[in-house]
Amino acid sequence: MLEMAGVPAVFLDRDGVINRDKGFIIDPDDLDLLPGAAESMKRLRTAGFKLIVVTNQSGIGQGLYTETDLAGVHDRLEALLAAEGVHVEGIYFAPDHPERPTARRKPGPGMLLEAAEAHGIALRDSAMVGDQVRDAEAGMNAGCVLNILVPPGAGDPRFPAAPDLAGATAMILNILGTSAGKIV
Ligand SMILES: [Mg+2]
Repeated sequence: MLEMAGVPAVFLDRDGVINRDKGFIIDPDDLDLLPGAAESMKRLRTAGFKLIVVTNQSGIGQGLYTETDLAGVHDRLEALLAAEGVHVEGIYFAPDHPERPTARRKPGPGMLLEAAEAHGIALRDSAMVGDQVRDAEAGMNAGCVLNILVPPGAGDPRFPAAPDLAGATAMILNILGTSAGKIV
């Protein structure tokens, strides 16, 4: 198989990593960034990592809200991040019903593979941060080299743990930072 050159990325789960986990978020005004999240994302981006959000949104598959509702929530997420000087390359969501998952629904790697192809990402130089075991599993299944869990999912012995995205960011910059540093 040909080795494809590519840029490093950090894949980020949404709820519980970037913003507060409140269950299904339907009203954009219910979305609040977690303290330090935007600053961490800015550090990662400055170090040369592309930022890709990957979020399971089974509420769509269950008929609880629509893709249009979700687009409104993600407009707000991007606006809040932009106000802190952070741009994300993409927000990918899996609308699958939990009982009828495709490979796009985490722990499937589908969203990460799709983003890698679209954005020229080298998965073996990339990391995933999530707050559920299935997030880290999705990163592992996609071939990311570093798959970090924050609470409440932290504690699975297969994956390194960090207290929050700031802690995960420090770990990523320590372990992968030098390889990413040349790209800004
Ligand atoms: Mg989450």
